[in-house]
Amino acid sequence: MHNFPDARALARTLSPDDAVILNRPHAAARAAKFFAQKFPGTAMYAVKANPSPDLIRILWDNGITHYDVASIGEVRMVRETLPQAKLCFMHPVKTAGAIREAYFQHGVKTFSLDTPEELAKIVEATTNEAGEAATDLQLLVRLRVSSEHSELSLAAKFGVDLADAAPLLQATRQHCDALGICFHVGSQAMTPFAYVQALERVRAAIAEAAVTVDIVDVGGGFPSSYPGMEPPPLEDYFAQIHRHFEMLPISYSAELWAEPGRALCAEYSSIVVKVEKRRGDELYINDGAYGALFDAAHVDWRFPVRALEDDLSQPDADFAFYGPTCDDADYMKGPFVLPADIQAGDYIEIGMLGAYGAAMQTRFNGFGATRAFVVEDEPMASLYRGDRVRPASDNVVSLR
Ligand SMILES: *Cc1c(COP(=O)(O)O)cnc(C)c1O
Repeated sequence: MHNFPDARALARTLSPDDAVILNRPHAAARAAKFFAQKFPGTAMYAVKANPSPDLIRILWDNGITHYDVASIGEVRMVRETLPQAKLCFMHPVKTAGAIREAYFQHGVKTFSLDTPEELAKIVEATTNEAGEAATDLQLLVRLRVSSEHSELSLAAKFGVDLADAAPLLQATRQHCDALGICFHVGSQAMTPFAYVQALERVRAAIAEAAVTVDIVDVGGGFPSSYPGMEPPPLEDYFAQIHRHFEMLPISYSAELWAEPGRALCAEYSSIVVKVEKRRGDELYINDGAYGALFDAAHVDWRFPVRALEDDLSQPDADFAFYGPTCDDADYMKGPFVLPADIQAGDYIEIGMLGAYGAAMQTRFNGFGATRAFVVEDEPMASLYRGDRVRPASDNVVSLR
């Protein structure tokens, strides 16, 4: 497939009428190396952030060996793409059929749970035809923790409350080779303190249950960089997590895991869109809520933008976007900052769409990007270039 130096060159060469996805393999490789080398434990990629087989191969080639999968579809896809990878089935609610296929056909030994019913289901589904229970399970109990420091909450749906954790940990201990505790602080956690707080809850759960814990999995939530959401350096997160992990009452050989999704792939993709119409400060573009811009429409996420024309001369102004479908909800309030003289026919690059962007597209109303190209320039923001101005974490919460 054809590569382009950057979005500008692509727009000039192709003048595309449909939205086009741009991928930056070098940016995903750099993020993978960073986590593989600097996270003080095992970083497994949360596949739901972007399940592209191309991306998964890049992560594997750059040191990511473990994959957090949440459905039997993801198990099959990653197993086919990476036969050697370690898969961890980290959705706390699974079907018995999915558990059985994952365990017996794809070699998955690691499962999460947050109820006694799910524990019973896992034990039953991994028992063989001779009636022998599995002896090689790694079972992680998902603890409910606060999402107060994160831009997207994951606190409501899953996780056992601290008050109910002890009996579940004790029961789970009876059925596994390795016992773990996992949690998720919510996506785009804007301060390392989110993990410190959650690890305090882990400490309380272990103390109360008085069980031996072999794995502590701090989940996802590692941030990326977006307009108005510039996080502290990831090294600060790693340092705080390591320090508080070391202070837990666990065995010397206990393992530390994490499940980064967004942080590993946000920089991987952007999209080139065309302005079809301008109405005041609203631009009608050819991708939106049902395309790669789901979060821009549904949770008012701001993504970086740049105009790809050379002849725009006016100072920047704030714009909102309408997507291409006939639905009023296909609206992104932004603000997206672009030259004030941008007009119909011009092209825009929208950046940082590798996580929960390119992966979320539908074909609703017949619209959506169908082509993807590789570009070689830098992503519109990066946590991995080593040139960030902000010196150290000061526990900044949301900058929004
Ligand atoms: C979504 C999810 C992740 C990844 O979260 P990010 O915020 O993208 O890092 C990790 N673990 C679990 C269980 C998830 O549901």
